[in-house]
Amino acid sequence: MKLIYYLYRFFWPFYRFIAKYGLSKRCIICALNEHAVLISDNICEICRKAQGAPAPPDKAAISYQETAKQLDEALIDAQGQGRRLYDVLFLFSGGKDSSYILNRLKKNYPRLRILALTVDNGFRSAVGKQNAEKICAYLNVDHMEIRPYQVFRKLYRYGFENLSYRGFVCTDFWEGELFQDIGRNLAAQMEIPIVMLGYTPEQLAYAYLPKDFDEYQLYGRSGFKFRDNQNFTREKFLGLKLKDIFTPEEMNYWWDASKWPAERIPTMIFPFQAWGYHNRAVVAEIGSSLNLILDKRSLNSMLTNDIYGGLGFYLDYRIFGYSPLFEEEFAQYVRTGREDCRHNRNLWEAWEYLLLKHESLIFRSKDMQLCLNKLGLTREKLDRIIHTSREQIKEVNK
Ligand SMILES: [Zn+2]
Repeated sequence: MKLIYYLYRFFWPFYRFIAKYGLSKRCIICALNEHAVLISDNICEICRKAQGAPAPPDKAAISYQETAKQLDEALIDAQGQGRRLYDVLFLFSGGKDSSYILNRLKKNYPRLRILALTVDNGFRSAVGKQNAEKICAYLNVDHMEIRPYQVFRKLYRYGFENLSYRGFVCTDFWEGELFQDIGRNLAAQMEIPIVMLGYTPEQLAYAYLPKDFDEYQLYGRSGFKFRDNQNFTREKFLGLKLKDIFTPEEMNYWWDASKWPAERIPTMIFPFQAWGYHNRAVVAEIGSSLNLILDKRSLNSMLTNDIYGGLGFYLDYRIFGYSPLFEEEFAQYVRTGREDCRHNRNLWEAWEYLLLKHESLIFRSKDMQLCLNKLGLTREKLDRIIHTSREQIKEVNK
């Protein structure tokens, strides 16, 4: 979303001194919002607890050294193992994390035959789209794009209307499951033994991910390589029967392992689980490796993320006063020294300011209009969603 990008990047650091009044209080260490956590004397409960504890030892780095070595061995072995054209199907968005992985794979495993798959959900940002094409061309990676617009549109509309009481993160996570299932299906069809994607360890851990999102026990465990748990048939999400939401034809996008012989079921690999994830290092590395084809601006996630994000955050701020789990995840990056507190604070403050104090500006933006048109939603319908979601939250908390 260009609007938020320009506000955050160029104006907010100065403008905030006038505009910050009336916005949520944030922890001065991690910038987490007062709606997410108890803050006293400007410090949140989580940071306060951590202050008393000894600094985390380098243990984490050592264990990543070991897992990075294991992944290295696994990828060396994987070269040439696919029975047909490819060894790895990589779900590639063109954002900074997936660009980092693709570049690293290409650099370190030149004999690994990679197919980059971009799933275009109909809500892709123009910058993200261009990045994906440019990077694949530059790195000489075969690139495939699939645009199953209808099924994604249905998922978002259903998610926003019915699951907003669990936060935008819920619809966003559900969408990720569909992405992966499309990848699994293509890999099985094309006999590609590995599917890879760039979820960070935080995104995969139960500390952040609510257990009930994970109907098939695919996450919340250590390790980076998963095969045994891929033998499932996706029938539900959050207890909802997918058959009640999607047509029989649309159900074919979801994963059904029973349709495939065992040797066609791909292994999932999450490389950040093996390498560790450090946002600033990722940005620095792709900044230097891909600087011939990308300028710094085009790597900013506000410009590469899907355009429905603005709508998701709008609903979050109106319903909760903050964005559940996303803000918690980012605050954790700050606490562990992987993100800068000031950046994090400015990012969410700028969102909050724009979403809650300048609604009309947001609704006049091209991205938001496009998004609402595609989903068949109006501001009145959004108000109803907000009202119903608040009622649902009250009901859950009873
Ligand atoms: Zn804090």
